Amino acid sequence: MINLHCKLLIVTFDEVNILQEIKHRVEDYLGCDVVNIKNSSYPKARMRFIQLNAADFLPLLGSLKNDYDFVLGIVKADLYLPHLNFVLGLAHPQESVCIISLARLRSSDEEQYIDRAVKEAIHELGHLFGLEHCSNPKCVMRFSNMVAETDYKKDKYCDKCLNLLKK
Ligand SMILES: [Zn+2]
Ligand SMILES: [Zn+2]
Repeated sequence: MINLHCKLLIVTFDEVNILQEIKHRVEDYLGCDVVNIKNSSYPKARMRFIQLNAADFLPLLGSLKNDYDFVLGIVKADLYLPHLNFVLGLAHPQESVCIISLARLRSSDEEQYIDRAVKEAIHELGHLFGLEHCSNPKCVMRFSNMVAETDYKKDKYCDKCLNLLKK
């Protein structure tokens, strides 16, 4: 546990069956004081079944921040950015908001699905804490473009990243 003592808001846009598992694991690892969940609607409701621009979520998440320190959005839809075919997540450290997509993390093994979601959440939150991508392939801050890379890394920051967090 890292003892960040932060107030984290998790924003969902769909019914996420593994939401409580994600919440508890993120909460336990980071040592947040408060973790609350709020449900919102997609920026453009009719687009819920196709790929969505990850950047469209950031202002919405920012508007829900209020007195929370950080906001984590979780969507089922696949996300992209104008210059990338897809992204597993996106963070905006200046605004303290980030989002992850579950679309490419699915697995018939529910534990694996939860693991992947937790790793991507801790990764994007790491950006909000000021961490950048790490070259250690086992570190959760290693950039992953494929789920195989997500599966390979751990759900924790490496020692180097942890030291940067403490500064
Ligand atoms: Zn990243
Ligand atoms: Zn690292």
